[in-house]
This record gives sequence, structure tokens and C-alpha cells, in this order.
Amino acid sequence: MEVLEKIEKRNNNESVTWPSAPYPSTAEAIKLNIIHHLMSFQGRDPERSGARDVYKALAYTIRDLMVQKWISTQKTFYAKKKKRVYYLSLEFLIGRSLGNSITNLGITQDVKQAVEALGFDIDEVRDQEEDAALGNGGLGRLAACFMDSIATLKIPAYGYGIRYEYGLFFQQLVDGYQVEGPDNWLQNGTPWEFERSLPLFKIQFFGNVTSYQDENGRYRARWVNTKDVMAKASDIMIPGYKNDHVINMRLWSAFSSRELDLGDFSRGDYIGAVESKVSSETISKVLYPPDHNYAGQELRLKQQYFFVAATFQDIMRRYKKKHVTFDQFTDRVAVQLNDTHPSIAIPELMRLLLDIEGLSWEQAWKITVNTFGYTNHTLMPEALERWPVEMMGRVLPRHLQIIYEINQRFLNEVAERYPGNQQKLRQMSIIEEGPVKMVRMAHLAIIGSHSVNGVAELHSQLLKNRIFPDFHNFYPGRFNSKTNGITPRRWLLDINESLAGLISSRIGDRWVTDLDQLRGLEKFLDDEEFCTGWREIKYANKKRLAGYIKTKCGVVVDPSTMFDIQVKRIHEYKRQLLNALHLINLYQRIIRGEAQGRAPRTAVFAGKAAPSYWRAKLIIKLITSIGEVVNNDPRVKDRLKVVFLPNYNVSQAEIVMPAADLSEQISTAGTEASGTGNMKFALNGALTIGTLDGANIEIREEVGEENIFIFGLSAEEAEFERKNCSRTPRQVCRENESINNIMAALRSGSFSGGNTELFKPLVDSLMDENDPYLLLLDLESYIDCQNRVSDAFLQPEKWTRKAILNVARMGKFSTDRTIREYSEKIWGIPVE
Ligand SMILES: *Cc1c(COP(=O)(O)O)cnc(C)c1O
Repeated sequence: MEVLEKIEKRNNNESVTWPSAPYPSTAEAIKLNIIHHLMSFQGRDPERSGARDVYKALAYTIRDLMVQKWISTQKTFYAKKKKRVYYLSLEFLIGRSLGNSITNLGITQDVKQAVEALGFDIDEVRDQEEDAALGNGGLGRLAACFMDSIATLKIPAYGYGIRYEYGLFFQQLVDGYQVEGPDNWLQNGTPWEFERSLPLFKIQFFGNVTSYQDENGRYRARWVNTKDVMAKASDIMIPGYKNDHVINMRLWSAFSSRELDLGDFSRGDYIGAVESKVSSETISKVLYPPDHNYAGQELRLKQQYFFVAATFQDIMRRYKKKHVTFDQFTDRVAVQLNDTHPSIAIPELMRLLLDIEGLSWEQAWKITVNTFGYTNHTLMPEALERWPVEMMGRVLPRHLQIIYEINQRFLNEVAERYPGNQQKLRQMSIIEEGPVKMVRMAHLAIIGSHSVNGVAELHSQLLKNRIFPDFHNFYPGRFNSKTNGITPRRWLLDINESLAGLISSRIGDRWVTDLDQLRGLEKFLDDEEFCTGWREIKYANKKRLAGYIKTKCGVVVDPSTMFDIQVKRIHEYKRQLLNALHLINLYQRIIRGEAQGRAPRTAVFAGKAAPSYWRAKLIIKLITSIGEVVNNDPRVKDRLKVVFLPNYNVSQAEIVMPAADLSEQISTAGTEASGTGNMKFALNGALTIGTLDGANIEIREEVGEENIFIFGLSAEEAEFERKNCSRTPRQVCRENESINNIMAALRSGSFSGGNTELFKPLVDSLMDENDPYLLLLDLESYIDCQNRVSDAFLQPEKWTRKAILNVARMGKFSTDRTIREYSEKIWGIPVE
């Protein structure tokens, strides 16, 4: 009776409140719910259940708790007619969700008790979860941190992405080489998603465009004879931190359209129908690793369009529930593009407004530009996406027409501004002329957005001055900067429980949602008990990592040595090779008996190389080979160990970050857009050795130059050296004996069992006068800086003081700050 009344009310568009939660979050209730899930949904005898069963049952129990908050959150969005933000990202590097959800719901202690009452250890249960690795690295992890902050700040936003059946490849090390395997993360299902049977959207591909005149005599286009694929939604709930607010992340999967199936079946082509069904479904099958050659990969373009088209049908559906015209569209909808990956959204929105909704070009264009914001993530020219015009025209013929029209109108404006300047037109055109004509997606994204942002101050400066100076001149004011961050919930509270506890014991726990509060720690620099506690916690975290290293690599490391860590994607610009060269130098000094009074080190590496990036893979082989030699040389003893942890991912990062003494952030200045690994380390009390690159510069500004180890060329100096080469690698070797010795060892095969060919490509690139990453030019200053690091580490009190100051001054690097800036400055949504 009661429920029927409510349905009646709902049908009359009145607001209803459903009965209060049947899932109270006390330890006892959680335990009963786990048992309930074990029996009723998993068909398990609680007495004979394993940690994996309990993980699943607990995850469903937690999800039950989130559902109610999620429903009420959606209602408040709906009721308040708020402007909504759509965060479009081809990548969300989520990692595990159980621990973070428990933290954010504020039920950590109750869950622990409940799990213990069933005879399990919460850490063991948490360890059963597969990572959701739907991203490659920093860009995808940023999107995941953004979701946490958006939920915590109660911003009316949705994340949109793809539900890849296979996430980022699994990395194994075989004989020291990277070998990739499939990441079949869904093989046992995931408890975090709700698969939706509605809405279902049809996504068009291929076909051709016909035109007609509408009743007002206007040119109208029709996209016909298309091959269609269906998009199905799965929703993942993201809880804010202790605020009863739960937002939605919607991930799309592709499957074959029913019409198409039936058509083929009725023609009697059973196998053909099944094949086309399978081929439709490959669109959401696998996450692409970065690859310079993927411009030719039609499936990647199809993936991007599939994602964008499904998302915009959803956006339009939601908008049209309340609005008849598009006059209010930009007051209700903001779309942020995480890199150019979803930038086909710009011609897609134009297409919808022109061809489906019948707006004029001028109306549609105004709405489009005001809707989009574009975040750039890279300074590497080769990473800027370009698609062959031919391919775009085949896969998305109507979009190519629209892109040409956008370009024509844009170039007319450019020509008016710079009369007779053909070079300007060529440089700024969306279409790159050449043997293979290409569509430059970054140009499209800049022209079609009202905001273009970089992800750290230096990066944003370089976008304006080095990468897109013409556009900056043409659209002054369109470019801005939003320095990246990390969520302090996951990256301190969750992963470093003891440090978080120590901090809260002194300054309370408001830092969790107001990271600037950490400044309060500066009062305790001379509090001996606090400092000793700090050191003990770091030691315990290092011991835990040592255990993990033993398990994964079979190498015993000493937790009292300096843990010197570089974990991130393997890329030449990130310069893992520079780190390796320093380790060779250390090794040689130890052998020569010149390392007395140097701090013993454990060098830890982890990271994946793109499968097609052979040079990066060779760098992995070099590091593992150095480890083989150093770790087995009895003369070295405990002075140096070198390990490479296989399969770097978010949950590995969660063990590594709290255990670091030294954080390696050593990219060539002017190449790393921001970095966020640098922030995770510093927030967990590691000191940074780094170049003046990306957010390192801002970290130095915050922590003070006496609390960070900076070395090497600045971005400006690096640019100068690349052009003028004032000092060649050969000169460096002549003038510096240590460096000459390092290169000699590499050449002579000291780390390749006498094989002088194996690492020759690396030697050659180091000695190349045109080495764009300038390794040998920075090596001297890096080694000197590492010596200063060693001296500092041997004074534990002083080191701890610096570490505390790093943590105390990390407030700026919370994604709460970043998201507040996006919301207020780009999306036009004030934050409560
Ligand atoms: C934070 C993070 C990154 C980004 O690291 P950078 O050092 O900023 O490149 C990459 N991968 C994972 C798993 C991360 O957690």
C-alpha cells in the first residue's frame, strides 16, 4: 500500500522518500550482511568460505550501503536543476575500490570488527580485489582522483568512460625482459558495477552523407547506410568522504545491434551474424597503450567515437527531460575533455545540434564552444593525436564534413587577421597537408573549446610559448593552468594508516578534506616523540615493502638502507636510464673502495613500457641486468641493491609510496607535463630528487628549496642545449672520468655477460649529440646531487625534519584544490 502510494506520487513528479536504510552500518549488521550475501547470492557456506568469497560478500555489502546515498544524491541533482559537469576520459586508473569505499563511508573500524568476527583479516580480504586498470598512467589516475574529489566536494558531475574488458596489460619479467599478458580483470565479474539494460544507444559508423533542403530552404545532412553498434551502460558508484554523497561513473560497453543480427540470421548467414556480433564487441574489448603508430588503427578511432556518441546521447536525453529548446544548454551542461582522446565530441555535438535538432551553424557553434573545456596532458609533439583524413572520412563521413566546415570558417578568421600569411594558415589548420593528410585533434580541441588548460604552471607556459603559440596569440585568454593533484583520502589516509594516525593525533583530522591543515605539523618539528614516531612508521612501511620485494623478486633488502625509488611508466623522457647510470657509478665506487661514508641504498624501479616501445623495453632489461650483477657481487654486501618490481599498478603504488625515502622525479626539464607520482611520494614523507620540470617546480616553491634536491638544466637551458649543443656527450666523457667509466662498463658488456651488442643502442643514444633528453649533460649534476642526498640521509634527525616539512607543505597538491579551480573557473559552478 505504502509503496503504491509512492509510485503514484512519483508518477505525478512529486518527491518521495523511501523507507530508511535496511543496511545499518554497525559491525554486527555488516557481519550479518556478509553472511547473507555469502549464502543468498554466492551460495556459499559461511563456515567454508575463503577470503575471496568474503571479499565479494563484503563488497556487495558496501555497495548496498552506497546505493541509498547514491539515489538521494541523484535526486538532489535532479530537483535543483543544477548545471552538470560531464568529465569525459578514455581512461580511469581506479585500482581497487573496497578500501577506499570503506574509508569514505567512515566505517573502517566496524568493517574490521565484522571481518574479524568471521575469522578473517581485513588486509587479506582487501588483497583479493583485482585492480581496475582502465588507464595507462598519470592521466588515467588523475581522472580517478578527480572522481573522489568531485564526490567529496558535492559537485554535480558524472564521469564517463569505457568499460574495457581487458585493462592495461599485465607485465611479467622473463629473463629480465618485459613480457605482456592480458589483464582479464572481469573474469570473476566485478561487484562494483550495475549493468543497465536501459538506456541502450545506437552508435553509427561508416555509411555516407546525403543532403536535402528542409522546410526553411536550409541545407540539411543525413548520415545513412551506416553500420551500427549498440552501447550499454554500467554504473560505478563513487562515494564522497563522509558526506553521504555518492556520484556516478558511467562506463560503456559495445555489443552488436539486434537489427543487424536478425537481418543476417534471416538471410541464413549464421556464422556471418556471429562474426559481426563479435566484431562489434571488440570496440570496448581492450585499453590501448600509448603508441606513436596508432593513427592507423581504425579500432582506436572507433573506440573514441563510440564512447563520445553514447555519452552525448545520454547528455541530450537528460537535458531534454527538462528543456524543449537549446537556449539553456550551456547553463546546464559543461563537458571537460581529458586530453584529445574524446575530442571527436566537438563535431559530434555540432552534428547533433545541426542534423538532429535543426539549429543553425552559428547557434550550434556558439553552444559547442561554450560547452567544452580541453585539458592538454603532453609536451611531446609525437603524442599529439592525428588521424588520417582518409580514415576519418570512411569511418565518420559526416564528422569529417563538419571538421572541414569548422576549419574553413576558422581559417577565414585567421586570414582576416593575418592577410596573405599562408604559413600561418598552414600551421594553424586542423588539416595537416602532406603525403598523408591528417586531422590534428589538438587543433580541433583548441578551436572548439572555451578553455584550454595545462596541468602545471610550467606545462601551461610551454603550451602557450612552445607548442601552440599561434593559438595563444589568436585566442588570448583561452589558455589557463590547473595544477594537478592527488586525493589525500586514497594517497595518505588509506595507504599509510599509521602516518595518518600520527598526524591526526597532533592536528586533528580536518586535513583529510582540507589538506592545507597539514601546515599545523610544523609546530611539532622539535617534538621528539613525534619525530621518533615518524621515523618508526617509515621504518615499518619499509619493512613491509622489503617483504613484498622478497616475494616478488626473491631479493632480500635491508629496511635500514635508503629506499631510493623510481616508479612510473618507462619512457626515455622520464630518464630511468639516468638513474641506472648513477647506480653503475655507485657500484663502481663500491668496488674501488671509494664508497666509505656513503649511505647504503636500495634502488627500486617499477613501471610498464608500451609493448611497441623497444627502446624502453631495453632500458628495463638494463636495469634488471644491473640488479643481477650488483645483487650477486659479494663485494657489494648491503651497500647497494637494485630491484625491478614487476607489474606496476595502483595497488603496488600503494605499498611503495609509504616506504620511500627518496623519490626520483628526473625527467628532462620541459618534458613532463606535471607528474603526480611526485606528489604521492612527498605526501608520504619521501624527499624528492628532481629536475625543474612539471609540478616539481611548484613542489619546490611550497616545501622550500632547502627541503628538496634539485639538479640539472632548466627547461630553458635544455631548449638552448638542444639547439646549440654547447657541450657534446663526448666532451662530457673526456672531462669526467666517472662518467667515462660508466660508459666504458656499458660498452664492454659488464652488465650483459660480455655481450657488447645488447645495450649498444642505449650507448649510442647516450653518445648522440642530438640526444633530445640530454642524459649525459645532466649526469654530472645528478651524481653530485645524489652525493648530497647521501650526506643528508646519514643525518636522520635532519632528514626527518625535511620529510615532515614536505608533508606539512603539500596542501596545494590535493585534487580538492584542483577540482575547486576547474569547477569555479572553467565549469562555472560555485563550490559550497
Ligand atoms: C600516480 C601513478 C602514475 C603517474 O606517475 P608519474 O610519476 O606522475 O608518471 C602512474 N601509474 C600509477 C599506477 C600511478 O599510481
